[in-house]
Amino acid sequence: MVDNNSIYYSDEHILLKKTVREFAQNELAPLAIDIDTKGIFPSESIKKLSELGLMGIPWDPKYGGGGMDMLSLVITIEELAKVCVSTAATLMAHTSLGTGPFSYFGTDEQKNKYLSKLATGQMIGSFGLTEPNAGSDAGNTQTTATLDGDDFVVNGQKIFCTNAGYAGCIIFTSKIIENGEDKGIAALFVDSDTKGLSLSEPEKKMGWKGSDTRSVYFDQMRIPKENILGNIGKGFKQFLKTLTIGRISISALALGTATGAYELALKYSQERTAFGKKISSFQGISFKLADMATQISASRQLIYHAAWLHDNKKDVIKDAAMAKLFSSEAAMKITTEAIQIHGGYGYIEDYHVERFFRDAKILEIGEGTSEVQRMVIAREILKSFSNT
Ligand SMILES: Cc1cc2nc3c(=O)[nH]c(=O)nc-3n(C[C@H](O)[C@H](O)[C@H](O)COP(=O)(O)OP(=O)(O)OC[C@H]3O[C@@H](n4cnc5c(N)ncnc54)[C@H](O)[C@@H]3O)c2cc1C
Repeated sequence: MVDNNSIYYSDEHILLKKTVREFAQNELAPLAIDIDTKGIFPSESIKKLSELGLMGIPWDPKYGGGGMDMLSLVITIEELAKVCVSTAATLMAHTSLGTGPFSYFGTDEQKNKYLSKLATGQMIGSFGLTEPNAGSDAGNTQTTATLDGDDFVVNGQKIFCTNAGYAGCIIFTSKIIENGEDKGIAALFVDSDTKGLSLSEPEKKMGWKGSDTRSVYFDQMRIPKENILGNIGKGFKQFLKTLTIGRISISALALGTATGAYELALKYSQERTAFGKKISSFQGISFKLADMATQISASRQLIYHAAWLHDNKKDVIKDAAMAKLFSSEAAMKITTEAIQIHGGYGYIEDYHVERFFRDAKILEIGEGTSEVQRMVIAREILKSFSNT
């Protein structure tokens, strides 16, 4: 086990880790292959995670949240992802993207109405930033919300929205148009049964097959002008804040994905024999295990450090991007080696590691590609260099 990190854990963290680990083993493990091969959204597991109070871990208890720290969210996502990445991705997107903006930027009234349902898991959240021509270049949003009396009339399209098909509420970015003038981007939200909103069929994906991913279309959709989070012109900046903090939780997904594959490979290497010996006794295999364990440990230090910075109200932009970049690329390498250690069986779905491999690739793309993370890190280190 690459898990001797007790210096980071309080008694509460240790108890939480045990609870989530048992839940994952007892409830998720029997479902994980079906969720993947049949593309089943894990509704029942999400309901049980709500009952355990895990759908709103970091949010204010006043609004039904768990009032826990970022490390608690990291621990939870990591433990779930070690067993079923699709379920972990559903909780991660709901918490950090589909709920976070209400907590960070919502008014008391908005929090009472939405955060209290999202934080308790009564409602699932989704987040629409990406458009057909606005992915890495997210500021190129083409969706418009035109002020008309007391309403916004919204037209446009969001793509790749995680959880959209099961969400009660969708947060999205849009240009605000007032008296024919572009007033900049704002974060808006809409109940998903609103007239003028429609969804595509779920995308057919390489991995994360149980996670729901769809396009969201807005066609003359009318929403009250109060459905805005924060201020006009601040929406894009707000989403960057959401994404920065979100990078810590998607890193936890990478850590769990990598650890799940590593633990299976470690076990298999001690069971499988070739040339009359356990394959773990071959240096070619044991060195792979050493590299995997080292990368997992390094990922964990970066992620836990970023979580600590966040929990201590320090700037986290560079460290969250480093954690996301390193852990997602490590997850891709580790899941590849986990298949190699399993030989031909690694290619067979019953052995699970090919699922972890397919689930890992999106981690280098979603919530900012590896290239975008390098841009962020380079900007931050060059900025601090020019300030010295
Ligand atoms: C399964 C899944 C779930 C997702 N969930 C969500 C969600 O819930 N909400 C949401 O809003 N979005 C979501 N996304 C979208 C995801 O965040 C974007 O796909 C991602 O940000 C990349 O944008 P893009 O696909 O437009 O690629 P592009 O931006 O078109 O990038 C294409 C390539 O060009 C590179 N590139 C672009 N600009 C530069 C540059 N300046 N320098 C160097 N290289 C560059 C990129 O790194 C990449 O390799 C999801 C995507 C998937 C597949």
